[in-house]
Amino acid sequence: MKAIVVGAGVIGSSIAYRIAEAGAEVTLIDANRVGAGTSATSYAWVNACEKINPRAYYTLNMAGVRTHRRVAEEEFKGSNWLHRPGVIQWQSAGAEAEGFGDAEGDKVDVLRSWGYPAERIDAKQLAELEPDVDPATFEQEGAIYYPEDGWLDAPVYAGTMVRTAIARHGLKLLLGHKVTALLVRNGAACGVVLQNGETIEADVVVNSGGRWANEVVGAPDFELPLAPTVGLIAYTTSSDTSLRHGMRTPLVNCRPDGAGRLLLRANDIDKTVPADSDPVPANPAAQKLLERTIKLMPALKGVAVEAVRIAIRPIPADGLSAIGPHPALKNYYVTVTHSGVTMGAFIGEAVTAELVHGRQVPELAEFRPARFFGPAV
Ligand SMILES: Cc1cc2nc3c(=O)[nH]c(=O)nc-3n(C[C@H](O)[C@H](O)[C@H](O)COP(=O)(O)OP(=O)(O)OC[C@H]3O[C@@H](n4cnc5c(N)ncnc54)[C@H](O)[C@@H]3O)c2cc1C
Repeated sequence: MKAIVVGAGVIGSSIAYRIAEAGAEVTLIDANRVGAGTSATSYAWVNACEKINPRAYYTLNMAGVRTHRRVAEEEFKGSNWLHRPGVIQWQSAGAEAEGFGDAEGDKVDVLRSWGYPAERIDAKQLAELEPDVDPATFEQEGAIYYPEDGWLDAPVYAGTMVRTAIARHGLKLLLGHKVTALLVRNGAACGVVLQNGETIEADVVVNSGGRWANEVVGAPDFELPLAPTVGLIAYTTSSDTSLRHGMRTPLVNCRPDGAGRLLLRANDIDKTVPADSDPVPANPAAQKLLERTIKLMPALKGVAVEAVRIAIRPIPADGLSAIGPHPALKNYYVTVTHSGVTMGAFIGEAVTAELVHGRQVPELAEFRPARFFGPAV
């Protein structure tokens, strides 16, 4: 089988690796570099605890969490991309979290009943875990500690998948080439058209173009309805903070990003950022993030914003994943989703099970692109 995967983000790289490993002849095409899309501008928390409603979405994300752990800690022992110091979440931030709204009962109880490691912590425990946090910013009802959670350096992960697939499984990598259309014959995808006019043929095309997925296809019939949102991340200068955990607080979400630098973001601030906003340290949203971070951890006074990146989240219209065959075209498969960092490694294996081995993956059953297009006529 000859396959083309468009997009070398965390998802496309995972798919290309696994399909090539399964014996297919794979070409991975990216307009830019490996891992340079949204995967490079992500909070990258590998978790299922923020996806508890609907339950099927939790199950899908949990499959993502487990697969990343297995890949990073067993298959690629000694790998350097998955960091798991734990994540701390103030409870009000949990109530605001996407998908938490309708779950019955206390979040910690729900998660624990599903086997997700989560503990309630009080101000004293927080002070032991993160001494730089000002206790005055902490809420009386306590916080949730996810001791096994962490984040992924997604470009590093994607790079390893791609390099390993080239070395071991003959993956062909085409960088700096934009796909402008699908090549279609008799109602089936049979390849892609590049911006330079060249065509590449294959038996199956996988569109992992993320937020740009609709620019890959070249015809409205093959698009997906998307509801993208803007995300701004600010990176601080190096500091002497002892912060170790990922933090999800009502003020700011922040975590270490190497050499004492912190990565900062906040959902409510994201909503105020225009997509064409300047990604510069002086950006008012970035300065607001810094102000809030210093309120959370006064020891950071004097630290500055060093860089800002703005990304658009690849989100299908109903907010859930769209992974599977596109109903308008045979041999054409799409993978557009938020939480793609969490799910990337699992999607690689799931797509391979479906496309190469013909085995339907139950975790994907509720997330098919077909749901957007009504019953077939
Ligand atoms: C601020 C923010 C915070 C986030 N936080 C989290 C989080 O905590 N946890 C989590 O799991 N997820 C999080 N996400 C979401 C996650 O980052 C994305 O779901 C994920 O990175 C998507 O990966 P992808 O491989 O689909 O897309 P991308 O990484 O964008 O890769 C798509 C690739 O396709 C290429 N491409 C596009 N069009 C073409 C074309 N026409 N021809 C050739 N190549 C093309 C691009 O160059 C790019 O490299 C966050 C996102 C944002 C923006």
